[in-house]
Amino acid sequence: MAAPALIDSFGRTHCNLRVSVTDRCNIRCFYCMPERDVHYADRSEILSFEEIERFVRIAAGLGITKVRVTGGEPLVRRNLPDLIRRLAAVPGINDLALTTNGVLLPDLAEPLYRAGLRRINVHLDTLHRERFAEITRRDELGKVLEGLAAAKRLGYQVKLNAVAVKNLTEPDILPLALYARQNGFEARFIEFMPLDAQSIWDRSRVLLADDILAMLSSGIAPLIPVPDPDPRAPATEFEYADGGGRVGFIASVSKPFCLNCNRIRLTADGMLRYCLFAIEEDDMKTPLRSGASDAEIAELVRRNVARKWQGHEINSEKFVAPPRPMHSIGG
Ligand code: SAM
Ligand code: SF4
Repeated sequence: MAAPALIDSFGRTHCNLRVSVTDRCNIRCFYCMPERDVHYADRSEILSFEEIERFVRIAAGLGITKVRVTGGEPLVRRNLPDLIRRLAAVPGINDLALTTNGVLLPDLAEPLYRAGLRRINVHLDTLHRERFAEITRRDELGKVLEGLAAAKRLGYQVKLNAVAVKNLTEPDILPLALYARQNGFEARFIEFMPLDAQSIWDRSRVLLADDILAMLSSGIAPLIPVPDPDPRAPATEFEYADGGGRVGFIASVSKPFCLNCNRIRLTADGMLRYCLFAIEEDDMKTPLRSGASDAEIAELVRRNVARKWQGHEINSEKFVAPPRPMHSIGG
């Protein structure tokens, strides 16, 4: 019998699950976390590897095929390679990836590779040491670059995630794109979204994907849109006309891709969210810990997806930012 698919009331089929494994982080990007007095979930609230693995098995039974491990900073979670090994072995999961800030990659790139990981997105907004420290409030650029070199040596497929902020990261766009080209990485530019802890987001601070595209086309080489084999993928892909590789754009603000969204998210404390910007979320931890059957949990996942809204309303007057900041949702 075919697996019952996770189809919402707008006909979108969900095959993509993002799993946050911690709300903690070893740096403090200003658009994601406050500088101090960070509120973390109590450790007892954080799902164990056994609980995460069970949830992913149940989700795979509902048609989830892609899993991305994220956080907070996933590499600060102790024994992460053990979780990767478990998730790589879940039947039906054919695409396992990780999003990291890269600071701990020099030590963990190899154990994670051995555990079965092949795809990583490394978050890097600038190659400029002072600006890196200004954005992240930590002086860790050297470690991230070391981690990227290790990832390249091991043969990972690497994408760079760069959050683009107006009047701040413009000087970083070309150097980052060139660095990515030289190393065989794909640079992806992400529009600054209203998910920061201190409500500093403002539309005037969004550096638009179209503006970055224009900078790259005139500063490096013309870019040609790549027809997307997966129209639900959030990044809009372009290829350099000179054969120098690809660039992606996540234009959540200027070109929301909600109509094609195929994702759900599990927070580190076991809440299921049908959207990054969702206000409501469903508790999976209590049923996971109180003897619910797989079928009962699967039903809760189906109900969450069935309630999914048509899309976030960043561009409307009605928009309300989610009560949790990005590090606590799982980006
Ligand atoms: N710590 C890891 C990292 O930084 O990649 C994983 C979690 S982080 C929340 C996931 C991604 O969210 C980051 O790669 C960063 O690009 C993105 N991000 C965080 N805050 C954002 C914001 N306010 N707007 C847009 N993207 C954001
Ligand atoms: Fe940490 Fe990632 Fe948030 Fe930066 S974006 S503070 S690295 S969780």
